[in-house]
Amino acid sequence: MSSDIWVLAEYAGGRPRKITYELLGKASTLAQEAGGQVVALALGSGIADAAQDLAAHGAEVVRVADDPLLAQYTTDAYAAVIEPVLSVEEPFLLMIGSTAMGRDLAPRLAARLGAGIVTDCAAVEVADGAVVATRPVMTRKAIARVAFRGDGIRIAVVLPNIFAPPRPDPSRAAEVLPISVTLDPAAIRTQVLEVKAIARETLPLTEADIIVSGGRGLRGPEHFGLLKELAQALGAAVGSSRPPVDSGWVPHDYEIGQTGKTVNPQLYIACGISGAPQHLAGMSGSRTIVAINKDPQAPIFSIASYGVVGDLFVVVPLLAEEVRRLRGASHG
Ligand SMILES: Cc1cc2nc3c(=O)[nH]c(=O)nc-3n(C[C@H](O)[C@H](O)[C@H](O)COP(=O)(O)OP(=O)(O)OC[C@H]3O[C@@H](n4cnc5c(N)ncnc54)[C@H](O)[C@@H]3O)c2cc1C
Repeated sequence: MSSDIWVLAEYAGGRPRKITYELLGKASTLAQEAGGQVVALALGSGIADAAQDLAAHGAEVVRVADDPLLAQYTTDAYAAVIEPVLSVEEPFLLMIGSTAMGRDLAPRLAARLGAGIVTDCAAVEVADGAVVATRPVMTRKAIARVAFRGDGIRIAVVLPNIFAPPRPDPSRAAEVLPISVTLDPAAIRTQVLEVKAIARETLPLTEADIIVSGGRGLRGPEHFGLLKELAQALGAAVGSSRPPVDSGWVPHDYEIGQTGKTVNPQLYIACGISGAPQHLAGMSGSRTIVAINKDPQAPIFSIASYGVVGDLFVVVPLLAEEVRRLRGASHG
């Protein structure tokens, strides 16, 4: 067992996802506590340039598996490449982002390696040689602290937008160690035929620092334009509760909550959302919550940092105007 902290780098459209940088930043702190190095694990095709970027964000060693069969993520190919590396190197901890890819791959690796795994980590600490993770449970009504037992490999699947990405330092270099890949194409049981990117005018919800979200109180799709204006002024992404999705007002990927996305922005502005438990399950981890609702008894106010009891059709345009004024003043 080494003392190294490993991070699985994740790419989208040839670029590392923000979660990769967030994990590298956290790994740097944990590696100091564990007395090991930060090792980034990068898989893909034509990713020779990956190492420099990962080094700039804190990787001291970069293990690169570069093969055309790794161009698109498949469970079989990625697990087949990573499992033997981990069983030889035995990192102290492997951190994987809680993304569609991470949530698919991590349990598979854990099962194959007999490793301990904690999913949905909102905090990870190393103390006295042990790794302790914190994760929301019971639709975020409670927080569990979970310790890994024993000396085997530990895998932490970490929620996005929890740790701040480090400031890149382009002068940093990493030791690059290639991983030899001998994949049997016949053993890869799935094939990605096509990737259809969802056209989004703003950042993906899971990566956004600010989210403006609308509920049934919006009354119709045409009124989401109000939220878009506020979002534009704030540099925010637009999300929604379930009814606007069910009614076809906004696409599925807007939905936040138990059956939608889990988000952790710095600021969440809920407009015309009552605050049902299934919605709170996806957004109550937001640092600051602002609720705009005309019903003073709406449950959303019980978790809001700031509440505006009022008509969103009046409040939201005023807020957008004020943000634009302040932004204009600060730029002027
Ligand atoms: C298994 C299951 C899973 C679910 N998963 C999810 C999920 O992932 N995400 C999710 O969001 N829901 C989910 N739901 C649905 C959830 O239970 C609620 O029905 C839903 O969250 C309510 O959405 P809402 O707050 O937009 O609507 P409502 O509860 O109808 O609330 C609308 C609010 O708008 C306010 N309002 C109305 N007009 C105005 C105005 N002009 N100005 C200001 N305020 C106004 C009202 O006072 C009210 O509080 C799930 C339900 C089930 C059973």
